[in-house]
Amino acid sequence: MPALPRKKPNKTAHLVLKFAAVTIFVMSGCRGGQAPQPAAPPKNLLLITVDTLRADALGAYGNRSAGTPWLDRLAAAGARFDRARAHNVVTLPSHANILTGRLPPDHGIRDNAGFRLPATEETLATRLKARGFRTAAFVSAFPLDSRFGLARGFDVYDDAFVDATPRPTFIEQERSGSATVRAAREWLDAQPSDSAWFCWVHLYEPHFPYTPPAPYDARFASAPYDGEVAATDAALSPLLKPILDAGAATNTLVIVTADHGEALGDHGEATHGIFAYEATLRVPLILYYPPLIGPRSITSPAGHVDILPTILDAFRMPLPEGLRGRSLVSAAAGNESSEVTYFEAVSGSLNRGWAPLTGVVSDGMKYIDLPIPELYDLDADPAEAKNLASTRPQDVEKRRTLLRTIDRGEVRRTDESEDVRERLRSLGYITSSAPRARARYTEADDPKRLIGVDTELQKIVGLYLDGNLREAVRRCRTLVTQHPGMRVALLQLAHLERESSNMPGAIAALQQALKLDAGDTEAASLLGAYLTAANRSRDAIALLEPYASREHADVQVLSALALAQSREQRYDAARSVLDRALAGDPSNARLFVTLGTIELMAGRRPQARTAFESALTRNKDTARAHSSLAAMAAEEGRHNEATDHWRRATALDPDEFEKLLAIAISIARSGRPADAIPYFQLFADTAPTSRYSADIAKARAWLSNERR
Ligand SMILES: [Zn+2]
Repeated sequence: MPALPRKKPNKTAHLVLKFAAVTIFVMSGCRGGQAPQPAAPPKNLLLITVDTLRADALGAYGNRSAGTPWLDRLAAAGARFDRARAHNVVTLPSHANILTGRLPPDHGIRDNAGFRLPATEETLATRLKARGFRTAAFVSAFPLDSRFGLARGFDVYDDAFVDATPRPTFIEQERSGSATVRAAREWLDAQPSDSAWFCWVHLYEPHFPYTPPAPYDARFASAPYDGEVAATDAALSPLLKPILDAGAATNTLVIVTADHGEALGDHGEATHGIFAYEATLRVPLILYYPPLIGPRSITSPAGHVDILPTILDAFRMPLPEGLRGRSLVSAAAGNESSEVTYFEAVSGSLNRGWAPLTGVVSDGMKYIDLPIPELYDLDADPAEAKNLASTRPQDVEKRRTLLRTIDRGEVRRTDESEDVRERLRSLGYITSSAPRARARYTEADDPKRLIGVDTELQKIVGLYLDGNLREAVRRCRTLVTQHPGMRVALLQLAHLERESSNMPGAIAALQQALKLDAGDTEAASLLGAYLTAANRSRDAIALLEPYASREHADVQVLSALALAQSREQRYDAARSVLDRALAGDPSNARLFVTLGTIELMAGRRPQARTAFESALTRNKDTARAHSSLAAMAAEEGRHNEATDHWRRATALDPDEFEKLLAIAISIARSGRPADAIPYFQLFADTAPTSRYSADIAKARAWLSNERR
């Protein structure tokens, strides 16, 4: 990535393109004395991104105990880049870099939450669609939900798993790799042979928690992360096998990379997102298209922003101006080249109030710009154990200068208009109009000094997941007292206080989070929902309306506002707010469930039914839609239909057993006890004994009494 000023024409790109055209010619032609023929460009593009995949987790990158035969085969027959790096260490910004060919300071996405790709950004999908490609994306985790703006240009953007069941606390919603690949395979098989396609498939298995399915759980019992990687590889086989089997006859360019790696304890970091050491910054990058790219391992550095120009180059499309990267087609042919790789890790700054981390890799040296600067010679010291910053000041200064040429901009969430700020100020939610990003950070704000705090945060999550809520709350309160500017701890505390039924405590934690950053729509939408739950729906409306007035208002904000308005019996307002949310995220089944709930509150049962059915059209596995239709059918006396829906709802989400029991009791008390029998029976037969043993016993007693 040449660190060119942004607005100048990208001359390097044009030169690279010319050079690449020559390379194609040379590579494919000079055999048997025949006149050289340029290789045919590929017809189709398969882009595979595996979340959280360390390069060295693959057999092709040296992991001898890896179970990754398919990716290894692809790498062996393609170009394997050994020094490829991401520019971010979190999911959404990294994918934005890959799809736009631009850096976070250019497109503005710096973290997962609170950012959306601007509608002005061209992506691989918009560019290829404009050239007649059929385009489809199949993603596997919530951070890539269409609400974040990556769906533009895709004919199909399959994120239907999102919000089908309530979001688990502290864990992202995900879909299994094999389910995602099945959906992609179906789409590919339905494409007419005469049309070109671009298919992007994203798999999430290697992300924490590491719980590989059988047989990988047993085979990788001592290295469950490697087990998840092996499961990913197996899940990919329906996509990779036909392409690999076609060999040189393939017409599909395949690119495989990861959005970032995983620290696995490196430098004290458990997962990813805080630091940018090689454990999380380095990624696999494999280019596969035998007619053009020979089997080769490449030591030239490469970055995610190089992927888009590489694809356009391989397809012989002109390279647009304003890209940060270069085509790797020439490098894939073995021509050495160098580049400066920009990187950043700013989640610690946005979510914890720590110093933002930025840096560059150039000439094999990595510079990390923090209050305590770091410089590593990556060839001599791949573990980044020896910080050379104090002994090689000239190398530091050279890279600081490079870093300054990349417009870093201010790291903050979506800009709030002055009007929004003013309204929030008048409500007491923010105390000043000063932007949250600080002008100066000291050594005390350096993430190296604070990584222990993150470890404590993870221990608290562990306590909660193990069922020790009381201790989790106690330690989280202590953490928040010690680090009052730590957004992520405040959000965590809010969840824990709510779980402990301490709504005032939960609300106070979110109010404190919002004071840190008025642009934090996640905190705002949660606070709105909690206020409504605490019978303060008017306060919720006052808080949420300013956020909802924005052009691309957050889906969660709109959803929370609609529920608060319907609590105030303002059903028409709620409906129009939800219509806006649905316009921004039309595939979201959960929004239709919310719409159905509001229609029910308004007493419009046919409309409610239509909304719940629409949710199931979007995603047939939406538990709450099944249980809502079940409850309606039960009340209307259609007991067979009701029990069918209950069966589906409870199988998808065991929490729905609570509602099944409540409905059974309510029917039994309404003077039609015989009607309640199928519901008590279903509950007694299928509810998990581990959780409902007492209720099951009561249901059985009631049934035997009723049948006597
Ligand atoms: Zn990720």
